Amino acid sequence: MSRPKVPSDLERRVKVEAGHRCAICRHIDTEIHHIVPWAKCKGHKYENLIALCPNCHARADRGEIDRKSLRIYKANLRYAHDKFSQLEVDLLFDLYQVPERNEHGNRYGQKWPSYLLLLFNRILEVGYIEVTEEPGVILEGGIPSPCFIFLTSKGREYIDSLKIDQGN
Ligand SMILES: [Zn+2]
Repeated sequence: MSRPKVPSDLERRVKVEAGHRCAICRHIDTEIHHIVPWAKCKGHKYENLIALCPNCHARADRGEIDRKSLRIYKANLRYAHDKFSQLEVDLLFDLYQVPERNEHGNRYGQKWPSYLLLLFNRILEVGYIEVTEEPGVILEGGIPSPCFIFLTSKGREYIDSLKIDQGN
């Protein structure tokens, strides 16, 4: 089976995702690399494509940069594109790893000082987390009581979409 060209729309989308730079070293010459080799997947899919420079491309082909690393590089491009901070992404991953509900059927919430909620503004705005404040108690010293942060199903889908652990 001969290899069809990567459609230009798809190539553009993958390059824009990376800012028209190598996803690893930021060199400005870019090529499209298949994370799972074309010979194996026989297709061009956005989730499987990443923009790399010829040098990093060759290193990936030789296996010096493995597929899981490439998926993390691609995921990092997504965070940058979505303008989330590393702290926001870390929180989403932390919440994702905990079962949605405990044995009592309660949702797991991360305790967090409400006056520091602005650090999570962007993931709150896009609806990846929701916040429940405890009944407004002012603690000793005038410090407000903490709130609880929950992962929404939209937030869970976002982490799913990063697909870091899928495939080999
Ligand atoms: Zn490179």
